[in-house]
Amino acid sequence: MSIFNFQILIEQRQAIVDAVGGLYSRLEAMLASVPMPCKACGQCCDFESFGHRLFLTPPEWIYFQAGLTQNNIPLLPMTTGVCPYRKDSKCSVYLWRFAGCRIFNCTGDADLQSQLSEEAVAFCKNLCIQHGLEYRYLDLKTALNGVST
Ligand code: SF4
Ligand code: SF4
Repeated sequence: MSIFNFQILIEQRQAIVDAVGGLYSRLEAMLASVPMPCKACGQCCDFESFGHRLFLTPPEWIYFQAGLTQNNIPLLPMTTGVCPYRKDSKCSVYLWRFAGCRIFNCTGDADLQSQLSEEAVAFCKNLCIQHGLEYRYLDLKTALNGVST
């Protein structure tokens, strides 16, 4: 079971899913005009060999979990340094991937990425406050495995 195990009302869950969907649409719109877009090669989803970590917040987790549940995709533990949803070098949960997955670009503008990340985190933190959720900022492995590091 994931460490993000929230007891929230269905309406509250839907409001969070809608809000995170809006955040992701805004991010996609801003990133669409960025030169050298990500080639979606999947190398950075191997965190260990790429030297990368992915952090996420409760609202992003709720969005992710809702997408997986609706599509009968199981929550998988992360048993190696690679995201368990990378299949054949592609993201198998592309529509529900996290803000960090969307923003990170190994060839992109680091300042822009930090700005977008900060905005996404602030937005999600505010959503937690609005919905009375405990704010956490966990790496993907911790979230999937339910073990604090
Ligand atoms: S969710 Fe998708 S994009 Fe994000 S780390 Fe996993 S495989 Fe990569
Ligand atoms: S950010 Fe870079 S390593 Fe990661 S998927 Fe995009 S092109 Fe590949």
